[in-house]
Amino acid sequence: MGTVYAIANQKGGVGKTTTAVNLAACVAEAGYESLLVDIDPQSNATIGLGVGKDSPATVYDVLLGEASLDGVVVATAIEHLWLAPAGPDLAGATVELPRMPGSETRLREALSGVRDRYAFTLLDCPPSLGPLTVNALVAADRVIVPVQSEYFALEGLAGLLDTLSLIQRELNPRLTVAGMLLTMHDARTRLAQEVEREVREHFPELVFDTVIPRNVRVGEAPSFGKPVIHHDPHCAGADAYFELAKEVAARG
Ligand code: ADP
Ligand code: MG
Repeated sequence: MGTVYAIANQKGGVGKTTTAVNLAACVAEAGYESLLVDIDPQSNATIGLGVGKDSPATVYDVLLGEASLDGVVVATAIEHLWLAPAGPDLAGATVELPRMPGSETRLREALSGVRDRYAFTLLDCPPSLGPLTVNALVAADRVIVPVQSEYFALEGLAGLLDTLSLIQRELNPRLTVAGMLLTMHDARTRLAQEVEREVREHFPELVFDTVIPRNVRVGEAPSFGKPVIHHDPHCAGADAYFELAKEVAARG
């Protein structure tokens, strides 16, 4: 049976999209079918995989009940990697969804028919805890929380965990945290070392052993419409995402 992972943190710029794209690519590289669902109106995952911003149908149509997930999924340039694209219209869904009763379960329902076709389904969330992220958390089995190795890293994490508990209690009892992931880590700086120590101390058990280094190749890969493992397969960032994929799979 396939597993659905939400990549969530209400902070922007912490590495959610980078993690979603690269983890999905690593799973595909290992020969498993993987599906990336872009539910951020900014569409960074969609663009980062070289798919245009103006797909005829997007996740917006799925959430509004106007298309099936199968109807919007497109193949990417990478074998085994599929994409449900986002578009700017998704911003409207944050207003429209709350007006529709029971709209929290839209994505879960849309995924129920197709999720078993993919070993991994990754949901790239927007930087908020609004209706789109709630839909992702209701649809997911596990959450991966990217945490940037910077000052204020811990800020907001307690609030995020509270939201996760609430969703577990009210809407999705099987939701668990797969792990927190330190990203953009510059091991040479004392700040990054301190942040890592602090995050591990506050959330023992929860933090992945794998740490994603700050790496120029990771940052520039989206401008080539590629995951880093295809842009530069042997750089430190590619190695780290391969390690992460193994660790995520091992945690089950
Ligand atoms: P989010 O989806 O949480 O907003 P992104 O994944 O888009 O965050 O990352 C924010 C920015 O940081 C992007 O420009 C991205 O390319 C860059 N970035 C992410 N991870 C790394 C990394 N490990 N090394 C260098 N740059 C990174
Ligand atoms: Mg993003």
